[in-house]
Amino acid sequence: MRHIGGMSASLFAFDNSFARDMEGFFVPWQGAACPAPKMVKFNLALAKELGLDADALDTPEGASIFAGSLSPEGGSPLAMAYAGHQFGHYSPRLGDGRALLVGEVIDTHGARRDIHLKGSGKTPFSRGGDGKAVLGPVLREYLIGEFMQAAGVPTTRALAAVTTGETIYRDALVPGAVLARVASSHIRVGTFQFFAAQGDVEKLRQLADYTIARHDPDLVGEEGRYLRFFARVRDRQAALIARWMGLGFVHGVMNTDNMAISGETIDYGPCAFIDAYDPLAVFSSIDHAGRYAFSRQPNIALWNLARLAECLLPLINADDSAAVEAANTVLAPFPEIYAREWSRVMRAKIGLEHEEEGDAALLQGLMRLMSTHKPDFTLFFRALADAARGDAMPARAMLGGDSTWLEAWQSRLAREGDAGARADVMDRVNPLYIPRNHTVQSALDAATAADLAPFERLLGVISAPFAAHPGQEDLAAPPPADSPPCVTFCGT
Ligand code: AMP
Ligand code: MG
Repeated sequence: MRHIGGMSASLFAFDNSFARDMEGFFVPWQGAACPAPKMVKFNLALAKELGLDADALDTPEGASIFAGSLSPEGGSPLAMAYAGHQFGHYSPRLGDGRALLVGEVIDTHGARRDIHLKGSGKTPFSRGGDGKAVLGPVLREYLIGEFMQAAGVPTTRALAAVTTGETIYRDALVPGAVLARVASSHIRVGTFQFFAAQGDVEKLRQLADYTIARHDPDLVGEEGRYLRFFARVRDRQAALIARWMGLGFVHGVMNTDNMAISGETIDYGPCAFIDAYDPLAVFSSIDHAGRYAFSRQPNIALWNLARLAECLLPLINADDSAAVEAANTVLAPFPEIYAREWSRVMRAKIGLEHEEEGDAALLQGLMRLMSTHKPDFTLFFRALADAARGDAMPARAMLGGDSTWLEAWQSRLAREGDAGARADVMDRVNPLYIPRNHTVQSALDAATAADLAPFERLLGVISAPFAAHPGQEDLAAPPPADSPPCVTFCGT
């Protein structure tokens, strides 16, 4: 069955604003034919949220659509153009080298969402790449996106993972796959850079106006909207990175093409979560200098925002030095805004609802102790809730046997009301389960060898990460002491 040029019946109520309004920002394109599309995992809950006909899509026809080889009726598949700074070096032309925006739907909450494919074949932006994706990384993105969603972090999400029937060579022969991904948009800092670098101010204005209408509609037509829009992007990034830091998440490849204007986490390539606390944790095989290390992420967000500011300058003010000055007034407070967001996240993790003056010092004291004693970053906060319930032993042991900090925290917590009740609230913000590198890796290895059971089991617990799952305790445990360090890979 070859579907190219074929059309499926009307399965999506598409409303493709990007294709309609943004000519010149993309190349209309079709997915590659593939020998045997097969559904590996369909996200029923997300399909329902999008208002899709799940029964019609969790089918062989749906698999062909999500593999990119069957064009759904009403879709306008296209490869988006973007540029980007990768590890600090500017590439003027990146773009969707193995991805397609199929179209947009309005979800059941009235929000516009992109349906996008990753791994659907070569495009005019492929450069040397093969345009493909493979099963392990596709399922990794599925797992981590679902965890982020469950943990309340803005994120793109997987709608489906399909295999294509091809075998692809990476470091070994592995199953070819495509991820169908949903995002509130795929507009990145790099999308702005593409046109800014060409000095095309009118195109830039068109992109900014489109993006404002999509993500900050209250600013449409407002005076000073480009600067105010920039402030919104700044605030979303500050909030997002703070959420990452609260979960021990290392994105791994915070290039400007991987920073979404929407404030969603995008592109789960070489990302990973820390087990033992380590501010300088790096997992990506190519991040030799540690540019994207755990604790550097807020600074990198600021660096990326500065690149966005440069793009927006001609829109902010026709006078360049006035534009620079205005952009700086928005950029300069980022560290302060981020610190506030981080403190909000971390205060919740230690059970504090009301803000007091000494809280910052209390948190800094905890981070210093963590740097020294390197407790498991996830389990420590669960142990802290147990300490609030009266069993401080495990938390104390994780802090090297020192009680000083714990006692200061306990007297602070006492001012928040009933400690047992606070402990329950803490357990609702501190996950018991995270996608730990060793559990993710073994689930992906099994899936690559055609056994999906470990993937399903892991997906089950990390989709409800705050609750205890009897019988699944092994998935909450840190890696065995003798396990090799985790290394992750890009572009796979
Ligand atoms: P990423 O690091 O995954 O965000 O990708 C960076 C750039 O490389 C984007 O322009 C991708 O489209 C492109 N890319 C990554 N992998 C491939 C591939 N296998 N084939 C073609 N382009 C790719
Ligand atoms: Mg990317």
